[in-house]
Amino acid sequence: MRKDSSEKLTGNAQYEGYAVDLIHEISRVLGFNYTIRLAPDGRYGSLNRETKEWDGMIRELLDQKADLAIADLTITYDREQAVDFTMPFMNLGISILYRKPVKQPPNLFSFLSPLSLDVWIYMATAYLGVSVLLFILARFTPYEWQNPHPCNPNPDHLENQFTLFNCMWFAIGSLMQQGCDFLPKAVSTRMVAGMWWFFTLIMISSYTANLAAFLTVERMDSPIESAEDLAKQTKIKYGALRGGSTAAFFRDSNFSTYQRMWSFMESARPSVFTASNGEGVERVMKGKDSYAFLMESTSIEYVIERNCELTQVGGMLDSKGYGIAMPPNSPFRTAISGAILKLQEEGKLHILKTRWWKEKRGGGSCRDDTTKTSSTANELGLANVGGVFVVLMGGMGVACVIAVCEFVWKSRKVAVEERSSLCAEMASELRFALRCHGSTKPSKRTACRSSSSTSAMADDGHFHPLGSYTSYGFVGKDPLS
Ligand code: ASP
Repeated sequence: MRKDSSEKLTGNAQYEGYAVDLIHEISRVLGFNYTIRLAPDGRYGSLNRETKEWDGMIRELLDQKADLAIADLTITYDREQAVDFTMPFMNLGISILYRKPVKQPPNLFSFLSPLSLDVWIYMATAYLGVSVLLFILARFTPYEWQNPHPCNPNPDHLENQFTLFNCMWFAIGSLMQQGCDFLPKAVSTRMVAGMWWFFTLIMISSYTANLAAFLTVERMDSPIESAEDLAKQTKIKYGALRGGSTAAFFRDSNFSTYQRMWSFMESARPSVFTASNGEGVERVMKGKDSYAFLMESTSIEYVIERNCELTQVGGMLDSKGYGIAMPPNSPFRTAISGAILKLQEEGKLHILKTRWWKEKRGGGSCRDDTTKTSSTANELGLANVGGVFVVLMGGMGVACVIAVCEFVWKSRKVAVEERSSLCAEMASELRFALRCHGSTKPSKRTACRSSSSTSAMADDGHFHPLGSYTSYGFVGKDPLS
């Protein structure tokens, strides 16, 4: 890399970076002087299959214009045939550089996510089915018909508390883990209740266990997860560095997925190949999810340390190393290989990598980002649980509407029975309700006089939300006798 400086720099002082420090360390070990020169075509080195000529740094070595080529120059079979490489000083593999998947805004109704739609539907069906079955069995079994007045050993009627409405209330009470104030007494209905309780136990435990994960984990939607995903689609374009070992890997691969990817890259117009890794990174950034760049893992690591919008997708497609290249039969090869091994054993290579990847030139700027998001991930905002409030408000609203309907219905009934006007009846009831104190009110005797039911419970003139027990009850002879 060129050094940022206000003064005009010359010679080796113009450059800095891992490779510059590495050659400096090697020269210190072996004791030699060097001058850094850039390859005139800015290329790494690839063989033109037709002309059988090399370009880039390899060409410089073959033309004896340079003694060493030090860069992120991958050791490949083709290059090894033409020039000599030292021991690798860094290991890497090809991977995919892509934009970070966009975080999905938390869903207001994410409390529904722990169970799939199918399961919700099955649960609603099971709830209705169990309620109806309980109702039928409770009517069928003689042991659910109870004496409403236990002090009277010979009642003239028996009652059954499991009306359809009560069955539904019983089932929802168990499902919500709350219970209700009447319970089955017959073995058959207790069997239904027991099984329903077991079902709700398992369902509620599974729901609770899954809920935490769904509320706290931020969902990332990424269209591609691997090279196979890239190969399968054509919407996202992908390319590599022109004339580099990455492009050569796809060109020479015998693996069908990579062959397919190479034909796609070759035929894409405009060209998906770039003149430098920097251009590839730029294209991924500007491409807005429409371009992925195949790059070496080391370069990807460098980029994603600094550019928080980008990420590596999937693992490595191969495994190889960077080496220092020299003209064939170079007398320096053994000495330089030895120096590399020495630096590696002393931990110098590791220090250099940390310095240039994670520290200098903006390294580590994306690390704060990750720690920030992971520390706030546990806090649930209104966006995560807002749906529960919506449901609560909806339920309250529906309850108010039902209350109005109940009020009007009862007022109309009383008005008919008392032969008064509906408005007058509603006004008097409303006046009483709005007094907001007192929990007793005069009984409307007339309301019950004409009723066919003689139940004492219905006679109190109060409105029973579940209906009077006798309305479905067995009135007349004891079915057991
Ligand atoms: N390091 C590679 C090379 O030596 C560049 C690349 O293709 O990614 O050609």
